[in-house]
Amino acid sequence: MVKNKGFNIVIPDMVKPPADVEQEVFGPDSEIFIGQAVATDQISDDIWQNCEAILAYDKLFYDSDLLERLNKCKVIIRVGVGYDNVDLIETKKLNITVCNVPDYGTGEVADHTIFLLLSLARGLHDYTERVESKNWDRHHPVSFRLDGKTLGIIGLGRIGTAVAMRIKAFGIRIIFYDPYIKDGYDKALGVERVESLDDLARKADIVSIHAPLTGETNKMIGGAFFSKAKNGIVLINTARGAIIDLAELEKAMRKGTVKACGLDVLPIEPSDESQTLIVAYENNEEWLRGRMLVTPHIAFYSPQSYEEMRRKAAQEALRVLKGEKARNRVN
Ligand code: NAD
Repeated sequence: MVKNKGFNIVIPDMVKPPADVEQEVFGPDSEIFIGQAVATDQISDDIWQNCEAILAYDKLFYDSDLLERLNKCKVIIRVGVGYDNVDLIETKKLNITVCNVPDYGTGEVADHTIFLLLSLARGLHDYTERVESKNWDRHHPVSFRLDGKTLGIIGLGRIGTAVAMRIKAFGIRIIFYDPYIKDGYDKALGVERVESLDDLARKADIVSIHAPLTGETNKMIGGAFFSKAKNGIVLINTARGAIIDLAELEKAMRKGTVKACGLDVLPIEPSDESQTLIVAYENNEEWLRGRMLVTPHIAFYSPQSYEEMRRKAAQEALRVLKGEKARNRVN
Protein backbone atom coordinates (compact mmCIF):
# COMPACT_ATOMS: atom_id res chain seq x y z
CA MET A 1 0.00 0.00 0.00
CA VAL A 2 1.28 3.49 -0.86
CA LYS A 3 1.72 5.48 2.35
CA ASN A 4 0.23 9.00 2.29
CA LYS A 5 2.10 11.90 3.77
CA GLY A 6 0.07 13.18 6.67
CA PHE A 7 -2.47 15.93 6.04
CA ASN A 8 -4.21 18.45 8.28
CA ILE A 9 -7.94 17.83 8.03
CA VAL A 10 -10.75 19.75 9.72
CA ILE A 11 -14.28 18.41 10.23
CA PRO A 12 -15.87 21.59 11.64
CA ASP A 13 -19.42 20.40 12.37
CA MET A 14 -21.75 17.45 12.90
CA VAL A 15 -19.30 14.54 13.32
CA LYS A 16 -18.63 13.42 16.89
CA PRO A 17 -15.32 11.76 17.76
CA PRO A 18 -13.86 9.38 16.77
CA ALA A 19 -13.34 10.23 13.11
CA ASP A 20 -12.57 6.56 12.52
CA VAL A 21 -13.93 6.37 8.96
CA GLU A 22 -11.95 9.44 7.88
CA GLN A 23 -8.75 8.39 9.69
CA GLU A 24 -8.77 5.08 7.84
CA VAL A 25 -8.92 6.95 4.51
CA PHE A 26 -6.30 9.64 5.28
CA GLY A 27 -3.95 7.28 7.12
CA PRO A 28 -2.46 7.38 10.63
CA ASP A 29 -0.05 10.26 9.87
CA SER A 30 -2.88 12.71 9.19
CA GLU A 31 -4.20 15.03 11.90
CA ILE A 32 -7.99 15.22 11.98
CA PHE A 33 -9.56 18.01 14.00
CA ILE A 34 -13.23 17.60 14.93
CA GLY A 35 -14.83 20.95 15.79
CA GLN A 36 -18.49 20.12 16.58
CA ALA A 37 -19.02 23.85 15.99
CA VAL A 38 -22.18 25.75 15.18
CA ALA A 39 -20.32 29.02 14.50
CA THR A 40 -16.98 29.60 12.76
CA ASP A 41 -15.45 31.47 15.72
CA GLN A 42 -15.77 28.33 17.87
CA ILE A 43 -12.73 27.04 15.97
CA SER A 44 -9.42 28.88 16.46
CA ASP A 45 -7.76 30.89 13.68
CA ASP A 46 -4.75 28.65 13.98
CA ILE A 47 -6.78 25.57 13.05
CA TRP A 48 -8.45 27.33 10.09
CA GLN A 49 -5.12 28.72 8.84
CA ASN A 50 -3.35 25.38 8.87
CA CYS A 51 -6.00 23.04 7.51
CA GLU A 52 -5.44 21.57 4.08
CA ALA A 53 -8.89 20.05 3.61
CA ILE A 54 -12.31 20.67 5.16
CA LEU A 55 -15.05 18.06 5.36
CA ALA A 56 -17.99 20.43 5.77
CA TYR A 57 -21.56 19.62 6.79
CA ASP A 58 -24.27 22.27 6.78
CA LYS A 59 -23.90 24.11 10.10
CA LEU A 60 -21.35 26.74 8.99
CA PHE A 61 -21.32 29.19 6.11
CA TYR A 62 -18.13 29.33 4.05
CA ASP A 63 -18.20 33.02 3.09
CA SER A 64 -15.35 35.31 2.02
CA ASP A 65 -14.61 36.22 5.64
CA LEU A 66 -13.84 32.60 6.55
CA LEU A 67 -12.38 31.56 3.19
CA GLU A 68 -9.74 34.30 3.29
CA ARG A 69 -8.40 32.83 6.54
CA LEU A 70 -7.81 29.41 4.95
CA ASN A 71 -4.18 29.96 3.95
CA LYS A 72 -3.37 26.32 3.16
CA CYS A 73 -6.75 24.87 2.23
CA LYS A 74 -6.87 23.11 -1.13
CA VAL A 75 -10.28 21.49 -0.95
CA ILE A 76 -13.67 21.78 0.75
CA ILE A 77 -15.94 18.77 0.51
CA ARG A 78 -19.64 19.33 1.26
CA VAL A 79 -20.42 16.05 2.94
CA GLY A 80 -23.86 15.77 1.34
CA VAL A 81 -25.56 16.80 -1.90
CA GLY A 82 -26.38 20.53 -1.49
CA TYR A 83 -23.59 23.14 -1.39
CA ASP A 84 -25.51 26.39 -0.93
CA ASN A 85 -23.52 27.17 2.28
CA VAL A 86 -20.27 27.58 0.31
CA ASP A 87 -19.46 30.75 -1.66
CA LEU A 88 -18.41 29.10 -4.93
CA ILE A 89 -17.24 32.30 -6.64
CA GLU A 90 -14.93 33.21 -3.76
CA THR A 91 -13.49 29.66 -3.55
CA LYS A 92 -12.73 29.77 -7.26
CA LYS A 93 -10.85 33.08 -6.81
CA LEU A 94 -8.84 31.52 -3.97
CA ASN A 95 -8.18 28.33 -5.94
CA ILE A 96 -9.98 26.08 -3.45
CA THR A 97 -11.68 23.09 -5.05
CA VAL A 98 -15.23 22.46 -3.82
CA CYS A 99 -16.87 19.05 -4.24
CA ASN A 100 -20.02 17.35 -3.01
CA VAL A 101 -21.02 13.73 -2.41
CA PRO A 102 -23.95 13.24 -4.78
CA ASP A 103 -24.74 9.55 -4.58
CA TYR A 104 -24.50 8.16 -1.05
CA GLY A 105 -28.23 7.73 -0.42
CA THR A 106 -29.75 7.22 -3.87
CA GLY A 107 -31.08 3.74 -3.07
CA GLU A 108 -32.36 4.76 0.37
CA VAL A 109 -34.31 7.77 -0.97
CA ALA A 110 -35.81 5.65 -3.77
CA ASP A 111 -36.78 2.93 -1.26
CA HIS A 112 -38.29 5.52 1.08
CA THR A 113 -40.35 6.98 -1.79
CA ILE A 114 -41.73 3.52 -2.59
CA PHE A 115 -42.45 2.85 1.10
CA LEU A 116 -44.41 6.11 1.45
CA LEU A 117 -46.44 5.23 -1.64
CA LEU A 118 -47.08 1.61 -0.62
CA SER A 119 -47.94 2.54 2.95
CA LEU A 120 -50.55 5.03 1.72
CA ALA A 121 -51.91 2.72 -0.98
CA ARG A 122 -52.32 -0.14 1.51
CA GLY A 123 -53.41 2.05 4.46
CA LEU A 124 -50.57 0.48 6.44
CA HIS A 125 -50.03 3.02 9.19
CA ASP A 126 -53.75 3.48 9.70
CA TYR A 127 -54.61 -0.24 9.79
CA THR A 128 -51.85 -1.10 12.29
CA GLU A 129 -53.11 1.70 14.58
CA ARG A 130 -56.68 0.35 14.26
CA VAL A 131 -55.64 -3.15 15.29
CA GLU A 132 -53.82 -1.75 18.32
CA SER A 133 -57.18 -0.31 19.42
CA LYS A 134 -59.06 -3.54 18.52
CA ASN A 135 -60.75 -1.94 15.50
CA TRP A 136 -60.93 -4.43 12.59
CA ASP A 137 -62.91 -2.20 10.21
CA ARG A 138 -61.79 -2.78 6.58
CA HIS A 139 -63.03 0.39 4.93
CA HIS A 140 -60.23 2.86 4.20
CA PRO A 141 -60.36 6.41 2.76
CA VAL A 142 -57.22 6.03 0.63
CA SER A 143 -56.44 2.37 -0.08
CA PHE A 144 -56.32 1.67 -3.84
CA ARG A 145 -55.02 -0.80 -6.46
CA LEU A 146 -51.60 0.17 -7.84
CA ASP A 147 -51.72 -1.94 -11.01
CA GLY A 148 -52.80 0.18 -13.99
CA LYS A 149 -52.14 3.54 -12.34
CA THR A 150 -49.88 6.22 -13.86
CA LEU A 151 -46.92 7.57 -11.89
CA GLY A 152 -45.62 11.01 -12.89
CA ILE A 153 -41.98 11.52 -11.92
CA ILE A 154 -40.75 15.12 -11.76
CA GLY A 155 -36.96 15.03 -12.25
CA LEU A 156 -35.57 11.85 -13.81
CA GLY A 157 -32.06 12.03 -12.33
CA ARG A 158 -30.38 9.45 -10.09
CA ILE A 159 -33.22 9.09 -7.58
CA GLY A 160 -36.05 9.52 -10.11
CA THR A 161 -34.48 6.75 -12.20
CA ALA A 162 -34.05 4.46 -9.18
CA VAL A 163 -37.74 5.02 -8.33
CA ALA A 164 -38.78 4.24 -11.93
CA MET A 165 -36.83 0.96 -11.89
CA ARG A 166 -38.40 -0.14 -8.60
CA ILE A 167 -41.96 0.88 -9.47
CA LYS A 168 -42.08 -1.20 -12.66
CA ALA A 169 -42.63 -4.35 -10.64
CA PHE A 170 -46.04 -2.98 -9.59
CA GLY A 171 -47.53 -2.73 -13.09
CA ILE A 172 -47.59 1.05 -12.95
CA ARG A 173 -47.20 3.14 -16.13
CA ILE A 174 -44.44 5.73 -15.75
CA ILE A 175 -44.39 9.21 -17.27
CA PHE A 176 -41.89 11.92 -16.42
CA TYR A 177 -41.29 15.64 -16.72
CA ASP A 178 -37.63 16.71 -16.86
CA PRO A 179 -36.67 19.35 -19.41
CA TYR A 180 -32.95 18.63 -18.96
CA ILE A 181 -32.93 14.93 -19.94
CA LYS A 182 -31.80 14.20 -23.49
CA ASP A 183 -33.95 12.12 -25.82
CA GLY A 184 -33.24 8.40 -25.73
CA TYR A 185 -32.75 7.92 -22.00
CA ASP A 186 -36.51 7.49 -21.64
CA LYS A 187 -36.48 4.75 -24.29
CA ALA A 188 -33.67 2.88 -22.57
CA LEU A 189 -35.52 3.02 -19.26
CA GLY A 190 -38.95 2.28 -20.76
CA VAL A 191 -40.66 5.43 -19.48
CA GLU A 192 -42.67 8.10 -21.33
CA ARG A 193 -41.73 11.77 -21.53
CA VAL A 194 -44.38 14.48 -21.17
CA GLU A 195 -43.57 17.91 -22.55
CA SER A 196 -44.85 20.04 -19.70
CA LEU A 197 -45.70 19.99 -16.01
CA ASP A 198 -49.33 20.70 -16.96
CA ASP A 199 -49.34 17.59 -19.11
CA LEU A 200 -48.00 15.53 -16.20
CA ALA A 201 -50.67 17.03 -13.92
CA ARG A 202 -53.43 16.02 -16.35
CA LYS A 203 -52.20 12.42 -16.76
CA ALA A 204 -50.76 11.25 -13.41
CA ASP A 205 -52.60 9.39 -10.64
CA ILE A 206 -49.48 9.46 -8.46
CA VAL A 207 -46.90 12.28 -8.51
CA SER A 208 -43.40 11.89 -7.09
CA ILE A 209 -40.94 14.79 -6.88
CA HIS A 210 -37.21 14.22 -7.49
CA ALA A 211 -35.99 17.59 -8.82
CA PRO A 212 -33.55 19.87 -6.97
CA LEU A 213 -34.75 23.06 -5.29
CA THR A 214 -33.98 25.92 -7.69
CA GLY A 215 -35.56 29.25 -8.65
CA GLU A 216 -37.52 27.27 -11.23
CA THR A 217 -38.78 24.51 -8.93
CA ASN A 218 -39.55 26.66 -5.84
CA LYS A 219 -43.34 26.25 -5.22
CA MET A 220 -43.58 24.48 -8.58
CA ILE A 221 -46.36 22.31 -7.11
CA GLY A 222 -48.97 24.86 -6.12
CA GLY A 223 -52.41 26.18 -7.05
CA ALA A 224 -51.83 26.10 -10.82
CA PHE A 225 -50.65 22.49 -10.71
CA PHE A 226 -53.53 21.30 -8.51
CA SER A 227 -56.09 23.07 -10.72
CA LYS A 228 -54.99 20.85 -13.63
CA ALA A 229 -54.46 17.63 -11.67
CA LYS A 230 -56.87 14.67 -11.73
CA ASN A 231 -59.15 14.40 -8.76
CA GLY A 232 -57.79 12.20 -5.97
CA ILE A 233 -54.07 12.08 -6.77
CA VAL A 234 -51.40 10.81 -4.39
CA LEU A 235 -48.42 13.14 -3.96
CA ILE A 236 -44.99 12.07 -2.68
CA ASN A 237 -42.10 14.45 -1.96
CA THR A 238 -38.67 13.23 -0.90
CA ALA A 239 -36.77 16.04 -2.70
CA ARG A 240 -37.02 19.48 -1.05
CA GLY A 241 -39.94 20.90 0.94
CA ALA A 242 -40.12 24.29 -0.76
CA ILE A 243 -40.93 22.66 -4.12
CA ILE A 244 -44.50 22.30 -2.81
CA ASP A 245 -46.57 25.31 -1.78
CA LEU A 246 -47.79 23.82 1.50
CA ALA A 247 -50.75 26.19 1.92
CA GLU A 248 -51.98 25.20 -1.57
CA LEU A 249 -51.46 21.52 -0.74
CA GLU A 250 -53.64 21.92 2.35
CA LYS A 251 -56.41 23.45 0.18
CA ALA A 252 -56.04 20.64 -2.37
CA MET A 253 -56.25 18.02 0.38
CA ARG A 254 -59.33 19.60 1.95
CA LYS A 255 -60.95 19.64 -1.51
CA GLY A 256 -59.92 16.06 -2.28
CA THR A 257 -57.82 16.90 -5.35
CA VAL A 258 -55.00 15.34 -3.37
CA LYS A 259 -56.33 12.18 -1.76
CA ALA A 260 -53.13 11.44 0.15
CA CYS A 261 -49.57 12.66 0.48
CA GLY A 262 -46.26 11.38 1.81
CA LEU A 263 -43.69 14.02 2.71
CA ASP A 264 -40.13 13.48 3.90
CA VAL A 265 -39.28 17.16 3.43
CA LEU A 266 -41.02 20.40 4.42
CA PRO A 267 -40.42 24.07 3.64
CA ILE A 268 -39.63 24.61 7.34
CA GLU A 269 -37.82 21.78 9.20
CA PRO A 270 -38.48 21.02 12.01
CA SER A 271 -42.03 22.22 11.41
CA ASP A 272 -43.57 25.19 13.20
CA GLU A 273 -47.06 26.66 13.82
CA SER A 274 -47.05 28.46 10.46
CA GLN A 275 -47.33 25.15 8.57
CA THR A 276 -50.97 24.53 9.38
CA LEU A 277 -51.25 21.32 7.36
CA ILE A 278 -48.50 19.79 9.49
CA VAL A 279 -50.14 21.10 12.67
CA ALA A 280 -53.34 19.27 11.60
CA TYR A 281 -51.29 16.11 10.99
CA GLU A 282 -49.54 16.40 14.37
CA ASN A 283 -52.95 16.79 16.02
CA ASN A 284 -54.22 13.69 14.19
CA GLU A 285 -57.23 15.65 12.92
CA GLU A 286 -60.11 13.47 11.73
CA TRP A 287 -60.22 14.83 8.13
CA LEU A 288 -56.57 13.87 7.51
CA ARG A 289 -56.54 10.47 9.18
CA GLY A 290 -54.97 7.77 6.98
CA ARG A 291 -54.29 10.33 4.25
CA MET A 292 -50.89 11.61 5.20
CA LEU A 293 -47.44 10.41 6.25
CA VAL A 294 -44.61 12.72 7.30
CA THR A 295 -41.04 11.62 8.04
CA PRO A 296 -38.31 13.92 9.42
CA HIS A 297 -36.03 14.32 6.36
CA ILE A 298 -34.46 10.89 6.78
CA ALA A 299 -35.09 9.37 3.34
CA PHE A 300 -31.33 9.25 2.74
CA TYR A 301 -30.47 7.75 6.09
CA SER A 302 -29.22 4.31 6.95
CA PRO A 303 -26.05 3.55 8.94
CA GLN A 304 -24.57 2.28 5.66
CA SER A 305 -25.42 5.40 3.63
CA TYR A 306 -24.05 7.62 6.42
CA GLU A 307 -20.76 5.74 6.46
CA GLU A 308 -20.63 5.74 2.65
CA MET A 309 -21.11 9.52 2.65
CA ARG A 310 -18.26 10.07 5.13
CA ARG A 311 -15.93 7.66 3.35
CA LYS A 312 -16.60 9.08 -0.12
CA ALA A 313 -16.10 12.65 1.17
CA ALA A 314 -12.71 11.71 2.66
CA GLN A 315 -11.67 9.81 -0.48
CA GLU A 316 -12.55 12.81 -2.68
CA ALA A 317 -10.54 15.16 -0.44
CA LEU A 318 -7.57 12.77 -0.55
CA ARG A 319 -7.70 12.66 -4.36
CA VAL A 320 -7.43 16.47 -4.52
CA LEU A 321 -4.68 16.61 -1.85
CA LYS A 322 -2.66 14.07 -3.86
CA GLY A 323 -3.04 16.22 -7.00
CA GLU A 324 -5.50 13.86 -8.70
CA LYS A 325 -8.67 14.94 -10.50
CA ALA A 326 -11.77 15.39 -8.32
CA ARG A 327 -14.78 13.32 -9.34
CA ASN A 328 -17.53 15.65 -8.14
CA ARG A 329 -16.20 19.20 -8.38
CA VAL A 330 -18.96 21.83 -8.21
CA ASN A 331 -17.03 25.15 -8.56
P1 NAD B 1 -30.04 14.52 -9.75
O1 NAD B 1 -29.30 15.78 -10.00
O2 NAD B 1 -29.43 13.22 -10.17
O3 NAD B 1 -31.50 14.61 -10.46
C1 NAD B 1 -32.30 15.75 -10.45
C2 NAD B 1 -33.08 15.78 -11.76
O4 NAD B 1 -34.00 16.87 -11.68
C3 NAD B 1 -32.18 16.02 -12.98
O5 NAD B 1 -32.42 15.03 -13.97
C4 NAD B 1 -32.60 17.39 -13.46
O6 NAD B 1 -32.55 17.52 -14.88
C5 NAD B 1 -34.04 17.46 -12.97
N1 NAD B 1 -34.56 18.82 -12.92
C6 NAD B 1 -33.88 19.98 -12.67
N2 NAD B 1 -34.73 21.03 -12.76
C7 NAD B 1 -35.95 20.52 -13.07
C8 NAD B 1 -37.21 21.10 -13.32
N3 NAD B 1 -37.38 22.43 -13.28
N4 NAD B 1 -38.23 20.30 -13.61
C9 NAD B 1 -38.10 18.95 -13.67
N5 NAD B 1 -36.90 18.33 -13.47
C10 NAD B 1 -35.85 19.12 -13.18
O7 NAD B 1 -30.38 14.51 -8.22
P2 NAD B 1 -30.81 13.25 -7.32
O8 NAD B 1 -29.61 12.63 -6.70
O9 NAD B 1 -31.75 12.40 -8.11
O10 NAD B 1 -31.59 14.00 -6.15
C11 NAD B 1 -32.80 14.69 -6.41
C12 NAD B 1 -33.12 15.59 -5.23
O11 NAD B 1 -33.45 14.78 -4.09
C13 NAD B 1 -31.93 16.44 -4.75
O12 NAD B 1 -31.84 17.64 -5.44
C14 NAD B 1 -32.23 16.66 -3.29
O13 NAD B 1 -32.90 17.89 -3.14
C15 NAD B 1 -33.16 15.52 -2.93
N6 NAD B 1 -32.57 14.62 -1.91
C16 NAD B 1 -33.29 14.37 -0.80
C17 NAD B 1 -32.79 13.52 0.17
C18 NAD B 1 -33.60 13.20 1.41
O14 NAD B 1 -33.04 12.66 2.37
N7 NAD B 1 -34.89 13.45 1.42
C19 NAD B 1 -31.52 12.95 0.01
C20 NAD B 1 -30.82 13.19 -1.16
C21 NAD B 1 -31.35 14.05 -2.14
